[in-house]
Amino acid sequence: MASPAPLDRHHRPLGVLRLSLTARCNLACPYCLPDGQEPPGLLSLEERLLLVEAAVQLGVHTLRLTGGEPLLHGDLEALIGALAPLRQRPAGDRRGRLRQIALTTNGTLLSAERARSLREAGLERITISLDGADGTSVARMAGLASTAVPPASVGSAAMGAGGAGPGTEGETNNSRARGEVLLARVLAAIEHARAAGFDPAAGELKLNAVITRHGNADQLLPLAALARERGLELRLIEYMDVGNRNGWDPAEVISAAEMVGRIDTRWPLEPLGRDCHGTASRWRYRDGGGLLAAVASISAPFCGDCNRLRITADGVAYSCLFAAHGTDLRPWLRPRPDRDGLLAALSSLWRQRDDRYSEERSLSAMATANGSIATPDATAIPDAAVARQARPPAHAEMAYLGG
Ligand code: SF4
Repeated sequence: MASPAPLDRHHRPLGVLRLSLTARCNLACPYCLPDGQEPPGLLSLEERLLLVEAAVQLGVHTLRLTGGEPLLHGDLEALIGALAPLRQRPAGDRRGRLRQIALTTNGTLLSAERARSLREAGLERITISLDGADGTSVARMAGLASTAVPPASVGSAAMGAGGAGPGTEGETNNSRARGEVLLARVLAAIEHARAAGFDPAAGELKLNAVITRHGNADQLLPLAALARERGLELRLIEYMDVGNRNGWDPAEVISAAEMVGRIDTRWPLEPLGRDCHGTASRWRYRDGGGLLAAVASISAPFCGDCNRLRITADGVAYSCLFAAHGTDLRPWLRPRPDRDGLLAALSSLWRQRDDRYSEERSLSAMATANGSIATPDATAIPDAAVARQARPPAHAEMAYLGG
């Protein structure tokens, strides 16, 4: 049997598992563009439990459930409930202990009932994505089509995503109206989550926003105001080069330093730093207006203490968001589970892990700019030449969770 708590080649422990439940999403945010269809061979609930159990034995203490849009997955509450025994283990249990389960969602399907059922199942944290504070911006960033206003009660069907794009005045109005419906739904989801017991003051309810220079940079202050009014921590995420499909252009990246600087001019901030193994640097509003965070995956990479493992909805493990190749874990899950084999495979994957893609990209950017290798700089954005050299990751799901 594999020994527990492996370290990778840069002496980083395993700590966080980002488990995708579905590759599908009901939005089509142009910076992400997840799959519209599931891959063949999706994992069952029992197989996911085996995976989490093995990961916990190797050091995982936090499980983040993702997609695509994870609320499209019907077994979500059942999975969270079934993980309870892993969370009830005493500290120091040789099999490890799962300390926290979190969810990242676009919020469109988070009804009051769903928020309650998730809380009752044992979910502790929800991060809701929202990239604008008005209908036009929300529609643009969510890739909403301009053809029709979605019904007030959207089910698991897609919201008619398909790219807003320029169009007639009528189409523009339609697009804005769809964005306003979506915005209202996400704001309602925030209140549903709060009512279900997810306390923003305890860090249990947060907002994620991906900011691009020509997409929604004008939404920085409105989003900060929206979050402040609701007592929510807003996490600003730099636009990343996930795969080839989002047409990443470094000119569209706004560095965390610039984003935070703009907000600081309106509401002065004091820095709190970044927790070890965390993705976000944080600031406190000096007027008592709560917290702000920024994930600087591009301009100030944090690979040095990255402890995150990703597993796709069909059971492929990636040791880095930008890893070009994954390890298919299904041979140890079916037709019959091989727990020891699975543990050994995951342990081996982690021990061989050498990834530090964002740091390497940053060093390349600096070298391109200076003609020599330099250390990463907090405002360095790779230029187009470096972007073209970027490895296309084999997976786009789970992209916008912050590095
Ligand atoms: S690029 Fe992101 S996922 Fe990969 S090692 Fe660096 S911080 Fe971790």
